[in-house]
Amino acid sequence: MPMHDNMGARCGAVWVIAEQTDGRIRTGSLQLVGHARKLANQLGTCLEVVLLGGNLVGVIQPLFAAGADRVYLGNDPDLALYQPEIYTEMVVKLATEQEPEIMLVGSTSMGRELAPLVAARLQTGLTAHCIDLVLDENGILEQRVPAYGGLVSITCPDRRPQMATVARGVFPMPQLDEDSTGEVVPLDVPDEVPGRVQTLEVIREEPEGVPLEIASVIVAGGAGAGDLDGWCKIADLAKVLNAALGSTRPAVDEGWIGLETMIGQSGKVVSPELYIGVGLSGEMQHMVGITGAKVMVAINSDAKSPVFEQVDYGVVDDCRKFVPVLVEKIKEHRERALSRSSRSHGPTSI
Ligand SMILES: Cc1cc2nc3c(=O)[nH]c(=O)nc-3n(C[C@H](O)[C@H](O)[C@H](O)COP(=O)(O)OP(=O)(O)OC[C@H]3O[C@@H](n4cnc5c(N)ncnc54)[C@H](O)[C@@H]3O)c2cc1C
Repeated sequence: MPMHDNMGARCGAVWVIAEQTDGRIRTGSLQLVGHARKLANQLGTCLEVVLLGGNLVGVIQPLFAAGADRVYLGNDPDLALYQPEIYTEMVVKLATEQEPEIMLVGSTSMGRELAPLVAARLQTGLTAHCIDLVLDENGILEQRVPAYGGLVSITCPDRRPQMATVARGVFPMPQLDEDSTGEVVPLDVPDEVPGRVQTLEVIREEPEGVPLEIASVIVAGGAGAGDLDGWCKIADLAKVLNAALGSTRPAVDEGWIGLETMIGQSGKVVSPELYIGVGLSGEMQHMVGITGAKVMVAINSDAKSPVFEQVDYGVVDDCRKFVPVLVEKIKEHRERALSRSSRSHGPTSI
């Protein structure tokens, strides 16, 4: 397959700052590349990806398969771990030379730090946690975020690049064309970078239970849990259903659970078969994270809670009382089903 035919465009390119983990391009980066491809086509410009890391030989093909025309590749042992100052320096230097029109960054732990560092150095605007990106009739990027009970479009008409961060799952995975190729431009690591902040080691915590991103059932808890004891009851429900446990912002702020479980605009975007929201009000910043859920249930003590307007089934009750009863009922039901099945199949020897 030839490269896309926008390589001589006058408008600056659309950029994606991609990320890889253990030699695989991250899903969120490929989703961003897929959407950036559409923006680049509409602008009649090319799509360029910046990828920094160590040992990147054989890693970049999926970026071309997802639609990139060109990859700026910083492949050096010094870049193996994300180093904020070196990464910022390299992206800023390249952006100053190449003058991209748009720069998209994943709303990951790296992207959330790198994007504002780069935006500040380039003296341009940045919209965090976008849930959609479209071009207006003048080719200006409308960066859409939830606010004031709806969606607002933020634009950056005068400064370049127009910068936005986007969480994984906001855009679908593009169709990958395995035969696609493109240009690789190697980047040098700068000699003099202050290095006041250095990543020495990355220690990965294995998430407990089912990961939110792939869970078919999610139980998400909110401020209505009341306290840690109430939260543990919600966690029990997730456990008995073999579901992933998600959260709203207040649950994280209270310290009941880690930030990595937060669903929504500044958290994760998920698409379970079944979502059960417990003690949460259905604020838009949370609900934008579950628009892909097939069946939605809410448990809330306030019959007038706006969450009930957004779900398929609702239970009006105090979750601290209702949830433990539900957990017991599920356990009883499961035991009955097991004993019925062992009676019909006879004794099983182990
Ligand atoms: C820029 C920005 C980004 C944000 N990003 C996110 C995000 O990504 N994810 C996110 O979740 N939030 C996000 N927020 C916060 C968001 O706006 C809401 O504040 C948050 O989602 C509300 O959480 P909640 O529903 O748990 O709490 P609340 O809104 O306080 O609702 C608690 C609910 O619990 C019910 N309740 C109380 N007691 C009980 C009980 N005993 N039993 C049953 N129900 C009970 C109440 O009726 C109420 O409906 C963001 C905010 C901003 C400004």
